[in-house]
Amino acid sequence: MKTYPAIDVRTDAPDLLLAIVDDFGPTAVEDLERERSVRIFFPSPTDRDAALRALDPCFDAAAIDVPDQDWARRSQENLKPVTIGRIIVAPPWVALSPEPSALVVVIQPSMGFGTGHHATTRLCLAALQAIPLTDPVVLDVGTGSGVLAIAADRLGAARALGIDCDPDAIQSARENLAFNPAVTRVRFEIGDLSTMPLPVSDIVTANLTGALLIRSAPALIAAVRAGGTLVLSGLLAHERDDVCEAFAAAAVFWEREEDGWVGLAMKKA
Ligand code: SAH
Repeated sequence: MKTYPAIDVRTDAPDLLLAIVDDFGPTAVEDLERERSVRIFFPSPTDRDAALRALDPCFDAAAIDVPDQDWARRSQENLKPVTIGRIIVAPPWVALSPEPSALVVVIQPSMGFGTGHHATTRLCLAALQAIPLTDPVVLDVGTGSGVLAIAADRLGAARALGIDCDPDAIQSARENLAFNPAVTRVRFEIGDLSTMPLPVSDIVTANLTGALLIRSAPALIAAVRAGGTLVLSGLLAHERDDVCEAFAAAAVFWEREEDGWVGLAMKKA
């Protein structure tokens, strides 16, 4: 059975912890609230072991290989439809009778991050609805499940490209596309934003981490046309000012906070 390399860390300082492991490309972070610890997933056992070495001896951390089955069971428990404005994000097995104005985005649970159950995804979906979407070309950087690219199509984008450095995420994004047959103008490609030339687009969405947003600001700004929009999330409230400084070439016109996470929409001059 497939397993996912992860680390369980007991900590009262999750921000410091996440800043340390950020260099090793974590793919998902899960709060294990009862045990006051977090579980951090990595793309490979090599990345996980390197992160573990970086955490030792300051953190009480242990490697764990999480069985796929366990992940699916836990995610399915959470997978009720989520409504954000006009958009309903729902798993494939839920029968919906939505209002005529609702736009349904079907997302199946998998390792691809982005089921609408995380505040940062919801913030991006809300921000996308605060932007006039008259036929824009959208680039979704770190697409995960593909939820933002698929939602952009439903909201009227001319086309959307989702990229992710994690091949499993791209596979799940493509599977999700098949669950949304009305969505025909979206494609997904494996790519790392730090090495891949990003196509210039009207709207760039990037739900990453505060540190990665700051590091990648020049590439993300260059990927938006003049007058275009950046939608950012994945940053924590205390990272907001540093992120805005890194993106000073764009002016914030929409901002929202949820569960300590921040979503921003910015217009490039
Ligand atoms: N867009 C989705 C998923 C966000 S999770 C949503 O809003 O819910 C962040 C995603 O960024 C993960 O799937 C991760 O694999 C991807 N990612 C992290 N670093 C990246 C990089 N350097 N280049 C491309 N994708 C990256």
